[in-house]
Amino acid sequence: MDGVPRPAPRVRRGQARAADPSPVQGGAVSARSLRTRCAVVAEFSRHGSGYVLAGYLLLTLLLRGRRGRPGLADLRAVLVVAAVRPLFEWALHRGVLHGPARIVAGRSVDPGGAHRGHHRVPDDVAGALLGTGFAASNGAGVAVLGAAVGALAAGPGGMLSAAAAAEASLLGYEWLHLLAHSGYAPRSGWFRRLRAGHLRHHFRDEQANFGVTSRLADRLLGTAGARPPAGGSGADQDVFLAQPHRRAGEVDEVPLVGDGGAVRGA
Ligand SMILES: [Zn+2]
Ligand SMILES: [Zn+2]
Repeated sequence: MDGVPRPAPRVRRGQARAADPSPVQGGAVSARSLRTRCAVVAEFSRHGSGYVLAGYLLLTLLLRGRRGRPGLADLRAVLVVAAVRPLFEWALHRGVLHGPARIVAGRSVDPGGAHRGHHRVPDDVAGALLGTGFAASNGAGVAVLGAAVGALAAGPGGMLSAAAAAEASLLGYEWLHLLAHSGYAPRSGWFRRLRAGHLRHHFRDEQANFGVTSRLADRLLGTAGARPPAGGSGADQDVFLAQPHRRAGEVDEVPLVGDGGAVRGA
């Protein structure tokens, strides 16, 4: 820190200024200042990643539509993508985004660098989103992976449907991740639990709760929940969820919730 006063986070129409200071700096938009779903949608629409991923989704659907009416192969391919997607998200988050940098052909390759930046400033909207370039490369990669899964599950006839399902999943991830970081108060138990898991991943235990759009893989693989803070005891989950996002140094002020206790194997 250089000791120079920083400007307050930029707040646009439709946003409410957070009650406590945001850690975002230098004109970045504070995610937690977005208090309504409309404000989150408006902010999402100002970034390129949603358009890129929606474009991939539209393209794969159009290509599939040109091949005639959907059948059982399409259904089987989409169901398999839906089944493996939480495990893929978990593995990517844990193994790649939280993995170490590696030396490949004499050069340092650090696929988790951007994600560590997001962990440093989780309230920064731009850091919570993939960004246009990453969305373009990730969307292409997901199309190939989805098509491969579709081919394995249902033969060539399932490839395009599986690719479309994979693109829809990535678009859903992009939206839900921003929504989880926003100040929007969850209205469903499903999203409340999903958001709680992601906030705990950020502010309580980075080696737990790797699922962003689903908690299934964390439950299956023993990484649901979070280690309780030192000296803490299980407290009302709503107390935690009602808190605005916290910087890493503040999180231990927030009571933790008991939803299964300590992480197994962590
Ligand atoms: Zn992470
Ligand atoms: Zn996040």
